[in-house]
Amino acid sequence: MEYNAMVWFRKGLRIHDNPALDLACRRSKHLFPVFVLDPRYLDPDPSAFSPGSTRSGLNRIRFLLESLSDLDSSLRKLGSRLLVLRGDPVRVVSQILMDWNIGTLCFEFDTEPYSQVRDNQVKDFASKCGIQVFSPISHTLFNPVDIIKKNGGKPPLTYQAFVKLAGKPPPPLTETYTWLPPIGDLQGCELLDIPQIDELGYGDISQEEFSPIRGGESEALKRLEESLKNKEWVAKFEKPKGDPSAFLKPATTLLSPYLKFGCLSSRYFYQCIQNVYKNVGKHTFPPVSLVGQLLWREFFYTVAFGTPNFDQMKGNKICKQIPWNDNEGLLIAWREGRTGYPWIDAIMIQLKKWGWMHHLARHSVACFLTRGDLFIHWEKGRDVFERQLIDSDWAINNGNWLWLSCSSFFYQYHRIYSPTTFGKKYDPDGKFIRHFLPVLKDMPKEYIYEPWSAPLSVQEKAKCIIGRDYPKPVVDHGIASKECKRRIGEAYALNLPSDSLETEEKLSGLRRKLEEDNKDITTYISSKQRKRKDK
Ligand code: FAD
Repeated sequence: MEYNAMVWFRKGLRIHDNPALDLACRRSKHLFPVFVLDPRYLDPDPSAFSPGSTRSGLNRIRFLLESLSDLDSSLRKLGSRLLVLRGDPVRVVSQILMDWNIGTLCFEFDTEPYSQVRDNQVKDFASKCGIQVFSPISHTLFNPVDIIKKNGGKPPLTYQAFVKLAGKPPPPLTETYTWLPPIGDLQGCELLDIPQIDELGYGDISQEEFSPIRGGESEALKRLEESLKNKEWVAKFEKPKGDPSAFLKPATTLLSPYLKFGCLSSRYFYQCIQNVYKNVGKHTFPPVSLVGQLLWREFFYTVAFGTPNFDQMKGNKICKQIPWNDNEGLLIAWREGRTGYPWIDAIMIQLKKWGWMHHLARHSVACFLTRGDLFIHWEKGRDVFERQLIDSDWAINNGNWLWLSCSSFFYQYHRIYSPTTFGKKYDPDGKFIRHFLPVLKDMPKEYIYEPWSAPLSVQEKAKCIIGRDYPKPVVDHGIASKECKRRIGEAYALNLPSDSLETEEKLSGLRRKLEEDNKDITTYISSKQRKRKDK
């Protein structure tokens, strides 16, 4: 019998409710806790639109490094430590399985396509070598495979159907540890210290403004406690009612980055909410309740796992085929917070600086980019979010972009978020805008959502001339949104299949047709504005 076990951390960066760690402890005299720094995520990409790697901006990389340090320090308190290596994970893990004479390998089940390929390769190697592999479900409340099987082999495509099938999730593990099995003979293997962000080769990042959101399990548990302390707030939580402009004290838990990296167990989070419910009696219910939010996460994980090509329009059977525009200039204006719509731009700057925004703020900017104003492909917006969000999550991000662009799940394309009036409902003084766009900090509140409409004298007094200090709007919302609705309506009417050759032809035909009988919506100053300017 072999007594060396390895727990391979990837997500699940925690000690609490960690079945992979628990299984590995039970099966070992020696325990090797490993994390492999994957160049795919970390290698610098100088051609990317901001410092960082191809797939991740600095905020998420820093969050990961902080989470690793926290995990390492928790392991050290238990007499162990995190063994950090760098390189292609399949190659590195295969090598150390042999070098360290590992008999049992444990890692959390991961549903993402990249992880599935990686993990299957490691599993194949391990089984050839007679190594036992355990890959428990603990990133999500449920096993997506079970739900899909219960639904006859297909993922449920509505939240309600999902909730009906899902039932109650299993409880979290209650194990606490006073010690862990010691690390065995490392055979001279060269380990790394957890790097600092400025050691990873992203150039001079000394001027970068970092997110206030700090990584790690300790932070996650603190934030969880803080969030659930106000029992009445938990009991009355109703998602669409939150204030997307609240940033000093956000209207939601801000636990998504911790769930993304598994610094917080979703099962533990779920149980803590249930405990609050038991205490308070009356509470809200899914889909709007706090538990309902965790179920949205599960819903998207299940559909994403069971849908081929979930992250693209082509070949994705649940995605409407829409002839989106390709306009690099507008995409960059949106990405960089230079659309000329302060509500949209402030949210995009919050994304850049914090790597997090409120759900309805994400709605606003995703709608604006796609079906609301710019008619740009949701995959382009998805890519920007994927790189910049700390909580960037393959299933949830793609799922929500499909939703917001009316490509799947939600089809009421006539309901468009106004980039001028939606934010005003919550924040009439424009505090959120003034904070993230200081150039507008002295703009009177009457003009803060539409600064181009301010008379020149007001702009001068506010030290912000529109068109010079802050951009003019890149499109006229009134015209652009009408045009978007027309285009989506036509695309829906065609009801294109998702993956035929014919589709591509029909799409380009439709694109041409739409372009021919339409004014250019992208370069505009509306006649109304022109008139105003001329006055
Ligand atoms: P809370 O309201 O406190 O909810 C608790 C948890 O429930 C969240 O942490 C999250 O894990 C889950 N949750 C909440 N809302 C949703 C939802 N709509 N879908 C799935 N899970 C949800 N969330 C991500 O975690 N990663 C992403 O990459 C991501 N991309 C998004 C892209 C777009 C275009 C949109 C509109 C939303 C996206 N969301 C994403 C969903 C949602 O906006 C965030 O989960 C939420 O704002 C996180 O804040 P919170 O932790 O305070 O949420």
